[in-house]
Amino acid sequence: MSAMVWGGRKPHGLKTIPGGAHLPFWRADGVIITALLHAGPVEFLYYWLHRALHHHFLYSRYHSHHHSSIVTEPITSVIHPFAEHIAYFLLFAIPLYTTLVLRTASIVSFSGYIAYIDFMNNMGHCNFEIIPKWLFTIFPPIKYLMYTPSYVSLSFDLPDSVSLIVISLAFVYY
Ligand SMILES: [Zn+2]
Repeated sequence: MSAMVWGGRKPHGLKTIPGGAHLPFWRADGVIITALLHAGPVEFLYYWLHRALHHHFLYSRYHSHHHSSIVTEPITSVIHPFAEHIAYFLLFAIPLYTTLVLRTASIVSFSGYIAYIDFMNNMGHCNFEIIPKWLFTIFPPIKYLMYTPSYVSLSFDLPDSVSLIVISLAFVYY
């Protein structure tokens, strides 16, 4: 059937990842797996990758390019040297490909995850605090679900300091 859809040519991905074809609109198990994989391994790896990038050796040769934006804008979130983009791509592919292999992926889990990552990344770098502090007071668990522009701003004010660990998983210490 896919051969008809794709005009007689079968995309390579359909051969190697059967779950990549005919995604259901929604699967609750896949959404939960995506969230858990992000909160666990992806955040863990991202945290240590970012810490490594702030080691003097990598920072001076590489990651300083990202932090050279003194006043950040949403687009700052994706200003990185090439290899960093590849690293992030591989990192955020973990939940997507895992759910494909497990055949629990859905259109909502894919589009929702990508939208969540991009929105949080852009929002975090917008240099304007839009998240009211009282939100964390009345609903403390939200600190596990998001970070705020203030945290990203702090890391850009003090790019060489250990305070950079506030990015990624460290925002749980809010
Ligand atoms: Zn950094």
